[in-house]
Amino acid sequence: MKLVIIANRLPVKIERENGSFIVKRSEGGLATGLGSLNIETEMHWVGWPGIFVDDPKEKKEITKKLKEMKYHPVFLTEKQIHDYYEGYSNSTIWPLCHYFFSYIQYKTEYWETYKEVNKLFCEIAVPFIRNDDVVWVQDYQLMLLPKKIRDKKPKVNIGYFHHIPFPSYELFRVLPEREEVLEGLLGADLIGFHTHDYMRHFISAIYRVLDLNCNLDEVTLENRIAHVDAFPMGINYEKYHEAPTLPAVKTFSEKLRKDLGTTENVVLSVDRLDYSKGIIHRLNGFANFIENHPEYRNKVSLVMVVVPSRDTVDRYADLKSQIDQLIGNINGQYSSLGWTPIYYFYQSFSFNELIAIYDMAEIALVSPLRDGMNLVAKEYVATKREKTGVLILSEMAGAAIELQDAIIINPNDVQEIENAILQALTMSEEEKRRRLDKLQKRVSTQTVKKWANDFVEELLYIRKQNKEIFHKTVDKLQLKKIKKQYDESENRLILLDYDGTLSPFMKNPDDAAPSKELKDLLKDMISDEKNEIVINSGRNRQKLDEWFEDIEVDFAAEHGAFFKENGVWHENIKEKIEWDEEILNILEHTIDKTPRSHLEVKDLSLVWHYRNVDVWLAELREKQLINALMGPCSRLNLQIVPGNKIVEIKPPNFNKGSEIQRLMKKKNYDFILAIGDDTTDEDMFHALPENGISIKVGSFSPVANYRIPVQSSVIPFFQKLIK
Ligand code: UDP
Repeated sequence: MKLVIIANRLPVKIERENGSFIVKRSEGGLATGLGSLNIETEMHWVGWPGIFVDDPKEKKEITKKLKEMKYHPVFLTEKQIHDYYEGYSNSTIWPLCHYFFSYIQYKTEYWETYKEVNKLFCEIAVPFIRNDDVVWVQDYQLMLLPKKIRDKKPKVNIGYFHHIPFPSYELFRVLPEREEVLEGLLGADLIGFHTHDYMRHFISAIYRVLDLNCNLDEVTLENRIAHVDAFPMGINYEKYHEAPTLPAVKTFSEKLRKDLGTTENVVLSVDRLDYSKGIIHRLNGFANFIENHPEYRNKVSLVMVVVPSRDTVDRYADLKSQIDQLIGNINGQYSSLGWTPIYYFYQSFSFNELIAIYDMAEIALVSPLRDGMNLVAKEYVATKREKTGVLILSEMAGAAIELQDAIIINPNDVQEIENAILQALTMSEEEKRRRLDKLQKRVSTQTVKKWANDFVEELLYIRKQNKEIFHKTVDKLQLKKIKKQYDESENRLILLDYDGTLSPFMKNPDDAAPSKELKDLLKDMISDEKNEIVINSGRNRQKLDEWFEDIEVDFAAEHGAFFKENGVWHENIKEKIEWDEEILNILEHTIDKTPRSHLEVKDLSLVWHYRNVDVWLAELREKQLINALMGPCSRLNLQIVPGNKIVEIKPPNFNKGSEIQRLMKKKNYDFILAIGDDTTDEDMFHALPENGISIKVGSFSPVANYRIPVQSSVIPFFQKLIK
């Protein structure tokens, strides 16, 4: 097994120097985290090498050089980088995921190039991916890649991590390619986000856009389950915590402090130039602070580091001039001899310089309007040692979920920024230390190493689970095995669930009448004397009789409450149920408040159906209904059974399994097969003898021996079985 990391950029950069190519390391957090995995594995990277080359000979030379380091370059043209990276990734997806709706730029050529480049990445990666490898795709530039790889390598284990926020469905739905994007991501076995909020938004998009079945954090697909989970990314804590003791850092930090004139307290901010970082709001908040608190003038300065980024793009160039102008205005208005309110650095610093800046600052003001995680907040916390520091953190940064001991602010509220600065300046040393200790505890445990390990370990666990699902899926080989048992047996009992097994689900349950194909199949099965066929359904007697009047098949109706043998109906429960007023009122109230849901009254059960109800509302009402029914049902000794888009209320003394027990007492069968799609069918699976064959239709069930992924394969399966 090897681990193949696929990211937009390789962790190295190729540069031309004196007519040849040199490889420069540009290691970020990701490479650090992966460099310390607990599992021993060979690691390969696929990504853009950061250089434009046209000459095939040069490409060959670079490829050879990188291959020795297990790096596989994907060469892109300037146009591709423009349309795929700066275009679709950074001008369409980035503003969408950061809730900057009006900044979304949409151009068909961006999308076309995005598809083309994702395909290119796939073409480079696939030739060296083996079935037992683990592939980990990184970030929003490559959202179509998991599916592209899956199509070529169905068995390989694929993970995807989304490093930026995932927006709520209401925003995500504006994307014209929303289906392709989600299907692309679902090619992965594990889809990771920084926080459970992003995870929740993603699952809600899956429900609503693709209409797929999700069970909490699992999405059921044809041949496997895709998991969704939150893995908050961290930093290399030790490295940041030890760095302030380095002599070079100390010298730089002391020099900086001297350069700051009369300033006693430094408020620090560090971000890339980006509209999502809330730089303008932050400047306004700081300006308000010095306007309203003149006692802090000459004593407090904001050191603002803005790292140049994408500034050839108009939107970023505009932001840059707004920042320049605002800082100019504030400094012009408030500066005095020996004191500058804002020290502004439009540049990037080396690691040592950055640590010195963190070390010097009494307060870090991290106030993005949206941020997937924000590592600066964690780095600042990690560098603090003897001298404490206060972190002011935006609630819109992913890091805020973990770093609750910071002063948490709404970054849109300039008044709150002002108040937070004052709170930090007046905070007692004791409180600063108490908060810092808690923050450091979290940052030092949830490190980048742990992040990478947690992700890969979960991916490997899912691989095991999906292998099991794969082995249970009825294919040619499994069919042959079951058929052999079938052919060699004399007394067979075959129990068939109806809805979702013999017939597909319909919006209106009355439309799910049996097809001619199904009726022909049942006739063929019954004509074999060795077979005893029972349709074991939740439906009522009347409906089953109406639908199958021309076929002499046996039934169990209403989950085993009634059974029909040799054309005669029998009751397992003699007394008729008088439904309690309270229960009927609760159900009526639920239906009133839940458009498109309805009640089915059967002889021995009541069923609330919600197949056509909006997913979110259905989930809420189901929980409310079960809560409300709990009291009266336990008083009246009734069972509440949640099923496939239904909630059923019935007496507890029978279920689909009790029908099997009844039949087994009558006769010795040498072949018993039960098939069904619902949780209520698991009662059948449990009741089977050890050599019984249980087949789950649709989602995976650990109770069943086999699985048929889709309902449409059920009739063909039986046609082949009895042939
Ligand atoms: N950073 C840097 N040089 C600088 C300023 C910042 O290398 O001059 C790094 C910083 O240490 C941090 C990263 O840039 O690791 C910014 O990450 P963050 O998650 O805060 O924001 P992003 O830029 O990823 O949106």
